[in-house]
Amino acid sequence: MNKALRRTVIAGNWKMNKTPDEAKALIEEMKPLVAGADCDVVLCVPYVDIPAAVEAAKGSNIRIGAENVHFKASGAYTGEVSADMLKAVGVEYVIIGHSERRQYFGETDQTVNLRTLAALNAGLKVILCVGETLEQRELGYTETLLKYQTKIGLTNVTAEQLKNVIIAYEPVWAIGTGVTATDDQADEGNGFVRAAVAEAYGADVAETVTVQYGGSMNAKNAEGLLSKVNVDGGLIGGASLKAPDFSVIVKAASK
Ligand code: PEP
Repeated sequence: MNKALRRTVIAGNWKMNKTPDEAKALIEEMKPLVAGADCDVVLCVPYVDIPAAVEAAKGSNIRIGAENVHFKASGAYTGEVSADMLKAVGVEYVIIGHSERRQYFGETDQTVNLRTLAALNAGLKVILCVGETLEQRELGYTETLLKYQTKIGLTNVTAEQLKNVIIAYEPVWAIGTGVTATDDQADEGNGFVRAAVAEAYGADVAETVTVQYGGSMNAKNAEGLLSKVNVDGGLIGGASLKAPDFSVIVKAASK
């Protein structure tokens, strides 16, 4: 197992927070704090914040992502946004299959897969989220569930396209709850995801795939989580809304 074979990526997920002016101000505050990081730094922001965020991040090492994308190219899908539209306004990454989308907006593994294919075909990088609920963990289905979600999410994604996919292991019970997985639980979950990639694409490919951990990662616990061999970065919600906290995580990932 060689961590040097893969990029470490720290990505923020702002969820439904910040107006465009607030987004600009937060990115201006973050820029000097994360400059020179030895990892990729991404901020995934609400759709309406994208132009302001792209403008504010210009010339810095911060890349801008969206929080979702529709799987159709165009048409009668009121309220939706296509991959080409995101690409056209300077978006480079997109979160797909976040547990909040699955829980509140009827996202299924099948639509997660369709969105992943649409994003990759448009030239976006995908942050594909998978994770078990507490009930599934307690019933002993964590490994089965993570492998299933990973494989379905990646159906028809070629090995070449996989180079543009980051997988985020996000235990649902740890997202926004303040309950973080232990370092070992995060490493184990990420390992299950990597094993699923190995089953689908081979061990050599799996060694190169970035697998993030997400779920109440913060300035205090990041270093321990990121020290684990299977943890190649983080997807960060709450702590990505505070520049000092986010920059501590970025620095921990740069070690
Ligand atoms: C997330 O939104 O993906 C997330 C991990 O949130 P939080 O860090 O707040 O738990």
